[in-house]
Amino acid sequence: MAFGAVRRTRFAPSPTGPLHLGHAFAALTAARLADPGEFLLRIEDIDRSRCRPEWEAAIHEDLRWLGLDWPQPVMRQSDRLPAYRAALDRLAGMGLLYPCRCRRADIAAALSAPQEGMIGPDGPIYPGTCRGRAMEDAGPDDAIRLDVRRAFERLGFDRIGFHDEAVLPGQRHDLTAEDFIAGVGDVVLARRGMGTSYHLSVIVDDAAQGITLVTRGKDLFDSTYIHALLQALLDLPQPLYHHHRLIRDAAGKRLAKRDDARAIRSYREAGLTPAEVCGLVGL
Ligand code: GLU
Repeated sequence: MAFGAVRRTRFAPSPTGPLHLGHAFAALTAARLADPGEFLLRIEDIDRSRCRPEWEAAIHEDLRWLGLDWPQPVMRQSDRLPAYRAALDRLAGMGLLYPCRCRRADIAAALSAPQEGMIGPDGPIYPGTCRGRAMEDAGPDDAIRLDVRRAFERLGFDRIGFHDEAVLPGQRHDLTAEDFIAGVGDVVLARRGMGTSYHLSVIVDDAAQGITLVTRGKDLFDSTYIHALLQALLDLPQPLYHHHRLIRDAAGKRLAKRDDARAIRSYREAGLTPAEVCGLVGL
């Protein structure tokens, strides 16, 4: 963080279900780590088929109940499609993108050889079937992928990395280009019919909002290498990261949105206070 810069964090939920204890922990962590800087809320609603206005309203309500506050207006990713388009156009102009018509089943079939079955942050590593296609051929049913080997060549980097203040602070986490190509692969930057993806939106918006510290769960640690690569390609400033622990249920499973019993709202309705909910997540 540059000297004198205001520390700014964000909590960026998707309105696809009730916020649960894991979200409470993530939001409170982001707010605490911002102090005395600024804590922002951002609504990650690019997946229109899964997002609902009532879940968005519930996010505001639950977070306020927890005692959090944030500046207005709140950024919503569904309002930001032109910014994502501009980032894609820039990457396309560098010759780094290609349209992909492969469905999950095509990818699984292409990967049937056992040694090819590696799983990256976004699932099975894409075998590159569509890599030769030109962007001019892109149809409405295509996804858009980043040719990561070309991306590293363009940057002239043999590795990419970031700093995490929670995981080995002071040390840079690096992934070599070869490990990225083999273990992450050609990531989807625009999902079919969506015009963007989590990875693209999150880096464009973190930069637009001047986020200096990105706090998120450890489950997203490997995705941060993807974000670091995109930030380098698009000349965006790289924030500091803080990948925090995950809140698990009694069986050790990570909480999911459908886990209604652990919804903040359920605790609220059962008469718990915000302080008691903080206690449940160890804060
Ligand atoms: N919308 C993402 C989530 O709910 C945000 C992750 C991030 O902070 O980058 O997991």
